[in-house]
Amino acid sequence: MDRIVLLGSPGAGKGTQAKRLAEYLDIPHISTGDIFRESLKNETKYGLIAKEYMRKGTLVPDDVVNKMVGERLSRSDCRQGFILDGYPRNIKQAIALKNMGIEPDAVLNILVPDVVVIERLSNRRLCRNCSKLYNLLTNPPKRSGVCDLCGGELYQREDDKAETIERRLTVYREETMPLNNYYEKENILRSIDGNLSPDSVFNLLKAAMVRK
Ligand code: AMP
Repeated sequence: MDRIVLLGSPGAGKGTQAKRLAEYLDIPHISTGDIFRESLKNETKYGLIAKEYMRKGTLVPDDVVNKMVGERLSRSDCRQGFILDGYPRNIKQAIALKNMGIEPDAVLNILVPDVVVIERLSNRRLCRNCSKLYNLLTNPPKRSGVCDLCGGELYQREDDKAETIERRLTVYREETMPLNNYYEKENILRSIDGNLSPDSVFNLLKAAMVRK
């Protein structure tokens, strides 16, 4: 059973790596940010609640996120494990996860310096249709504005605009970084250099998972 939590600042590469790891391990990738964006697109309950928080770059209230994650993790595809990307986001959520009866097998923390994160986030684009991620500098689409995989339209997340990036980094430092200590104490935190090529980071993550 692989119950994996990915930690790291916005733009650390959690989404990219979580997708690869999920495929490699054949377990679901659960990104709370993706679920909120999808719910917002479909104008369903969680998306409508989350909308303003996401736009401002602040956290959606814990009770909403905890309930949403609890529902997702109780689905049968999570029985063999899962990769949580973007959750928990603060200590209260980590405690809520524990109270759901879930103790992660590994917490992988991807470290990237702030200057790199800011450059990555401001150049990030994603497909409106299939959510594939691009970086205009390091991993651009073949045709400008068009997804290589499905032909969908590429867009910039509203919260990836310069004015919101700073707020998200502050929220990360104040609310999410304390989780490093929290999981360090539980002896399950493994930190990885994320300022390398996606392939190298992937290899480090795989190696870190083996060290159980
Ligand atoms: P992300 O794609 O992980 O950067 O998340 C985008 C936005 O969704 C965040 O800035 C929050 O507004 C919201 N969000 C995602 N995950 C959580 C979470 N675990 N707790 C609270 N808000 C979240």
